[in-house]
Amino acid sequence: MNRVLVTGGAGFLGSHLCERLLNDGNEVLCVDNLYTGSKKNIEDLFKNPYFKFINHDITEPLNVETDQIYNFACPASPPHYQSDAIKTAKTNVIGAINMLELAIKTNSRILQASTSEVYGDPQIHPQPESYRGYVNPIGIRACYDEGKRMAETLFFDYKRQHNVNIKVIRIFNTYGPKMDIYDGRVVSNFIVQALKGEDLTIYGNGEQTRSFCYVDDLIEGIVQMMNSKERLTGPVNLGNPLEFTIKQLADLILDLTGSQSKLVYKPIPDDDPIKRKPVIEIAQDELGWKPLVKLEEGLKKTIDYFKKVI
Ligand code: NAD
Ligand code: UDP
Repeated sequence: MNRVLVTGGAGFLGSHLCERLLNDGNEVLCVDNLYTGSKKNIEDLFKNPYFKFINHDITEPLNVETDQIYNFACPASPPHYQSDAIKTAKTNVIGAINMLELAIKTNSRILQASTSEVYGDPQIHPQPESYRGYVNPIGIRACYDEGKRMAETLFFDYKRQHNVNIKVIRIFNTYGPKMDIYDGRVVSNFIVQALKGEDLTIYGNGEQTRSFCYVDDLIEGIVQMMNSKERLTGPVNLGNPLEFTIKQLADLILDLTGSQSKLVYKPIPDDDPIKRKPVIEIAQDELGWKPLVKLEEGLKKTIDYFKKVI
């Protein structure tokens, strides 16, 4: 039985990951400061004697016994990570250092949840891992984008200097049950607005694109990456390469919910990427992984979840 630490384990992705790891027979230690996560997301897991929760901020050092570390702590929605940008930068950078130091002490393998945001507003489309990105270092998204880029740098420096066993994944937009109602990301916003009969808020003209991955597909890829051969450090893109405009997403959600809500157009936030779509050849070739859940199918499950919680 592995002792697995999940930072950010009470968040959207972290809570799904904790559940999966427990089901696989691991002992799971969930570390979270409940900044954007919630105990509600993990309430079912407390019944399992192999699950433990520690309320801890990863910008402070942590001393625990562990064999594997999944570093997921960091707010992921733009309104949340921008609301205290300095804290976001600290979580990404100091948090990564603290977890890498713990990996040295415990001789643990450590996986970093990086992001497609390291590509910024990409000038190459779709984005392969070899693309170095186009990030505004002084913009409102930089605390997150540059923070995640620095975390990647630290992971590779700790590997070079201390031979830490690292894995880095770049996650593209993922959605599903347990997203927070007030999270502010597009899928949860549109579904909640549609179900409440409120206007769907499209930022800009709605022609910008994203490629949406259902959470179960992503979690499978994450676990496979953690347990892959040591030489596969990444970075590896994980996401669904099917690309949609935001307007298409809004129309599909209106259709699936049967909502009479209208679309309203709001100003687009600064530095909002125009296009995003992953190249997933490395994940396919090295892990044999590819997403299986179609957007319509994943949205239906997500809508069913939100119907129960709003
Ligand atoms: P989330 O906001 O739901 O979860 C983040 C969790 O981290 C929350 O439970 C929060 O309380 C916790 N946290 C934040 N700062 C912390 C700190 N300093 N110490 C301890 N805990 C802290 O977001 P999510 O969608 O679950 O994202 C999880 C990770 O995956 C993040 O690192 C994010 O950057 C990455 N990611 C997510 C997506 C996506 O589409 N969901 C895409 C790319 C990358
Ligand atoms: N978006 C939108 N309406 C919303 C929330 C987001 O049109 O209510 C847009 C946002 O401007 C971006 C896209 O949807 O172009 C994805 O936004 P999200 O915050 O989900 O993720 P990210 O921008 O980090 O990919």
